[in-house]
Amino acid sequence: MSVLRITKLGEPVLVGLARPVTDLGPDTQKLIGDMYDTMYAASGIGLAAPQVDIPLRLAVINVTPENRRNQFVIINPKVVKREGSLASEEGCLSLPGLGGATFHRAAKVMVEAVNEKGLPVVVSGEGLLARCLQHEIDHLDGKMIIHRAHLKRRLEMHWALRKLKKDGLW
Ligand code: ZN
Repeated sequence: MSVLRITKLGEPVLVGLARPVTDLGPDTQKLIGDMYDTMYAASGIGLAAPQVDIPLRLAVINVTPENRRNQFVIINPKVVKREGSLASEEGCLSLPGLGGATFHRAAKVMVEAVNEKGLPVVVSGEGLLARCLQHEIDHLDGKMIIHRAHLKRRLEMHWALRKLKKDGLW
């Protein structure tokens, strides 16, 4: 297994629509393993394939990374139910140095997907898990927190990004 490079805002793979996964062969299994390694190495709680430059509808999640047994993958996920609305702050591994943004998302979600064996799974989550599921599925649709943040915060992030680029730190 290996740690992959995490893509950053500005790379085309992060704004495109990711393709459905149609093959769960050795390449996809290796990708999933590498994505877990990459997520843990970056101290993240979720990572979507476009964040490792692969335009596929797949994400790994573990909102309790101290317990590796809680890790799981969602392949071709779909949010089938949303309930409530909650404002909370979240950050993104593809926006290093830009800080987080606070905005509303559904408080509870139900997601249908398949797992690494191709078996259907239903993941219901609230709190951090609900937030993480929506964040990762957003990545598969080319959406990031900078697109969802309120205008003021979005502009702040754009200016901070501009400065990072100017200083050669991006
Ligand atoms: Zn992200």
